[in-house]
Amino acid sequence: MRDAKDRIEIDGSQGEGGGQILRSALTLSLVTGKPFRLHQIRARRIKPGLLRQHLTAVRAATTVGAAEVVGDELGSKDLIFTPGNVTHGDYTFAVGSAGSVTLVLQTVLWPLLLVPGKSTLRFEGGTHNPMAPPFEFIAEVFLPLLQRMGAKVEANLVRHGFYPAGGGCFTVTIEGGHPLRPLEVVERGGVVRRRARALLSHLPKSIGDRELRVVRNELGIDRDEIRVVDVDSVGPGNALLVWVESEHCTEVFAAFGERRISAEQVAARVVSEVKHYMSHDAPVGPHLADQLLIPLALVGNGTFRSHSLTEHTNTNMKILGRFLPVQFEVTADRRGSSRVDAKPA
Ligand code: AMP
Repeated sequence: MRDAKDRIEIDGSQGEGGGQILRSALTLSLVTGKPFRLHQIRARRIKPGLLRQHLTAVRAATTVGAAEVVGDELGSKDLIFTPGNVTHGDYTFAVGSAGSVTLVLQTVLWPLLLVPGKSTLRFEGGTHNPMAPPFEFIAEVFLPLLQRMGAKVEANLVRHGFYPAGGGCFTVTIEGGHPLRPLEVVERGGVVRRRARALLSHLPKSIGDRELRVVRNELGIDRDEIRVVDVDSVGPGNALLVWVESEHCTEVFAAFGERRISAEQVAARVVSEVKHYMSHDAPVGPHLADQLLIPLALVGNGTFRSHSLTEHTNTNMKILGRFLPVQFEVTADRRGSSRVDAKPA
C-alpha cells in the first residue's frame, strides 16, 4: 500500500462532473500505484454519487488491484482509493441492474492490459444503454484501435442487456503485457461502407422498420445495408446503430428506444450524429475522442483528430494529467477540426 501523503485529491464536480472522472481516476490509480480521494462524486448528474454501475466499477478496480477503499457504498459522494498490485486472472463483474457494463470494462481494461498474463473477464448488466458505449462501439471501434497499438484484447457478446431489465453479458479476453505503440488516428480516408441495424427485443418489428425508414431517407444508406435484428434479451429494448466504415477507421453511432419517444425521434437522434460526422473529415467522433485519451496518456505519445472536443474530453485531459506526466496539446487545424497530441509534460 502506498503512503496517504501522496494521495491525489480530485474534485468530482469539475467539468463534465460525471462518472468518467471516477473511472479515469480508478484506472490511472491502478496503473500508476497512486492513491486518490475523489469528493463531490458525479455532482453534475441528476442522481449524484455512486450508482450501481459506478459501485461495480469501484469494486472491479478494488478486486483486480487488491486496493483498499473507503466510501464504496451506493450514493456515496466521497471515495478514498489506495491501490495494491494488479493481478491478471478470471473475473466476473455484475452490475446487478441494467447499469452499463461497457463502462465497467473501461475501468479495468488498462490495468489488465499492462500487467503480463492472461485475463478472462465476464461482464453482466446493460450492454446497450443510453449515455454509454454500446457493445458494438467497444468491439468494432475502440478495441480495433487498441489492437492497432499492439494490445491483445477481444470482446464477445453473449446476450444483449437493455434498460431497465438488464441481463446482458459479454466476455473479454486480454493477454496483458505486450508493448504498446503510439496511436495515430489523423486521417479518415474515404467512406467505404455505411450500414444500419435496428436491434429489437420483445418489441414489434414495425418500430425497427420505422427507424430504418428515417435512416434510409435521411442518410441514403443502401437498402441491402439496413436490417431489423430481433435479439434475445430478458426484457424489452431497442437500439438503433449506424456504422460508418472509412479507409482508416470505423465509427458507430447509436440511439436507444425509450418510452414516450417515437421511433422517428430515436432515428432523428442518430441521423443528426451521423450527419455531423459526415459534414467534416476528422476520423474520431466525439465519444471516441474522450476514450482515446487514456491510451495516448499511457503511452505518453500519440495523436488524433476530432471535429469538436466535448466537455468529457476536456475534463478527462485534466484528470489524466493529475496522475501521469503527460500534457495534451490541442490545435485547431485548417480543416476546422481539433488535433490532439499527447506529449511528455
Ligand atoms: P459519463 O457520462 O461521465 O458517465 O461518461 C460516459 C462515457 O460513455 C463517455 O466516455 C462517453 O463518451 C461514452 N458514451 C456515451 N454515449 C456513447 C455512445 N453513443 N457511443 C460511444 N460512447 C458513448
